[in-house]
Amino acid sequence: MTMKDSIVLYSALGRGHLVSMVELGKLILTHHPSLSITILFLTPPPNQDTPTSPTAFTCDATAKYIAAVTTATPSITFHRIPQISIPTVLHPHALNFELCRATGHHLRRILSSISQTSNLKAVVLDFMNYSATRVTNALEIPTYFYYTSGASTLAIFLYQTIFHENNTKSLKDLNMQLFIPGLPKIHTDDLPDMVKDRENEGYKVFLDIATSMRNSYGILVNTFDASERRVVEAFNEGLMEGTTPPVFCIGPVVSAPCSGDDNGCLSWLDSQPSHSVVFLSFGSMGRFSRTQLREIAIGLEKSEQRFLWVVRSEFEEGDSVEPPSLDELLPEGFLERTKGKGMVVRDWAPQAAILSHDSVGGFVTHCGWNSVLEAVCEGVPMVAWPLYAEQKLNKVILVEEMKVGLAVKQNKDGLVSSTELGDRVKELMDSDRGKEIRQRIFKMKIGATEAMTEGGSSVVAMNRLVENWREH
Ligand code: UDP
Repeated sequence: MTMKDSIVLYSALGRGHLVSMVELGKLILTHHPSLSITILFLTPPPNQDTPTSPTAFTCDATAKYIAAVTTATPSITFHRIPQISIPTVLHPHALNFELCRATGHHLRRILSSISQTSNLKAVVLDFMNYSATRVTNALEIPTYFYYTSGASTLAIFLYQTIFHENNTKSLKDLNMQLFIPGLPKIHTDDLPDMVKDRENEGYKVFLDIATSMRNSYGILVNTFDASERRVVEAFNEGLMEGTTPPVFCIGPVVSAPCSGDDNGCLSWLDSQPSHSVVFLSFGSMGRFSRTQLREIAIGLEKSEQRFLWVVRSEFEEGDSVEPPSLDELLPEGFLERTKGKGMVVRDWAPQAAILSHDSVGGFVTHCGWNSVLEAVCEGVPMVAWPLYAEQKLNKVILVEEMKVGLAVKQNKDGLVSSTELGDRVKELMDSDRGKEIRQRIFKMKIGATEAMTEGGSSVVAMNRLVENWREH
């Protein structure tokens, strides 16, 4: 009996990472159904997976999710890397690095066993699982990375290795613009700390990740050519400094809007006029102080626009275990005054479904790449308000390169004033500039659909990738 060609996708900890890998697996199978896909995933140690932690995807929830995927897509098989104990409680990223490193022997056993029943052609790693390359290299399995942010931030991460080799200073001390092929000018202030600061705990790890990516067989990127054309060309034409493996832009990979418990958001949107509502949501981890929440509320009232706002507050000294009520968090009378015109929900809303609703006409976002892609796929223009990780870079790309968003100005402490937010929201929803941005993102939405249809750039990239795999 001939053995099937198979690919292993190795997910990092946390809901977002696992869902991304599953969506990638489904995409591969859509175009290449004869491949078999195995998804490996890490299990949090018993003491470090609480439903409220940012990596949360409790074992029970994971099991349910996996059962649902397996029923819908039987060609995807899941393998759990066995749970191990890690005595100290670690930050989610550090925990991921440690778990991946410490379970190398399990990975080796699982990969060896998959190799006995199929032609294992390649392993695709979430970039957080870079330390798995020690195992995959030892087993001589071609290793690729899946980079779930855009091609522009990828270029900057890879640039870190070149800068590091040629300098002894930190990028943060240079206070200058960087010129990287295919990118707008990037100021060193806009770089994440783990890239710009040699003293930062994460610096060495990100350097190792970038080096592992450079040494891999290829990097899959969740973007499409037309959205980041110049940098994609720079990669394809070999204009980047240092060696870069082939880059495959196979996106946009976004998860389908899911229905279910929506706090009444969708029926509220049903009652609003077409493209009239601005949606405010700040990713899975964005939280604001009470001062900032009040500024947002006042800004929204000043903008006179309809809004749907996902409110998440920071824990402040003196808070009881019960989170403060909306009445405590927002200005007095705000909810009453904005009734009918605005809706506020706590903590979480079905973002993808909301962005695809016809009543939504604008999106105030923290610039997480999934959020950006979801907005692009629905043609919703953005106000860019970056909070953490690589989001400042995404803001620059969004505003200056893709030109599908307006940036809010933050003061030195990161605070955005009510006037600034109100002005940007009004400009986005109700000005000629806003209209231009809307038209541009609408074109980009069409570009995204084209990229993912037969003959489109992302399908061509996927075919090229699978050809590479089959040749190994
Ligand atoms: N999301 C959501 N509801 C929320 C907040 C976030 O559905 O209230 C989803 C959003 O649609 C996106 C993901 O969570 O798919 C956030 O990913 P992103 O890369 O934008 O930001 P991160 O959470 O990684 O900072």
